[in-house]
Amino acid sequence: MTHNWCHGPNCHTKQTQSRVRGSGENKVLRTIKIKENRYGNYQANIWNYFCNQNCLMDFIQTHSQAIRAIAPRSKALETPIKVEKEKYESYRYQWNNNDQHERVPYMATRTTIKSVDND
Ligand SMILES: [Zn+2]
Repeated sequence: MTHNWCHGPNCHTKQTQSRVRGSGENKVLRTIKIKENRYGNYQANIWNYFCNQNCLMDFIQTHSQAIRAIAPRSKALETPIKVEKEKYESYRYQWNNNDQHERVPYMATRTTIKSVDND
């Protein structure tokens, strides 16, 4: 199969020219047909089945409880890290008594989150 129908539940109700099919008095708005891998492999698991973000979000909104049931999360996950704090000299600007801007050194703290090998 090289095409899929957009899975957005409301795709066929959006009033765009690209959805109009039929002739004369028998026109309809039809679900968008998606060519597989239209963006190469970029997020193909999603964009092979949804014509745009609105349709994706409509699907998630409509089916959120079923989606949640696929992989329920009953407790928080945690990633071990190390938090490193280091002092370094920086500058800030202050007005001095002569009404001039003055560069004043001070010790600042830089906080960095580092990954931890947990094997
Ligand atoms: Zn759609």
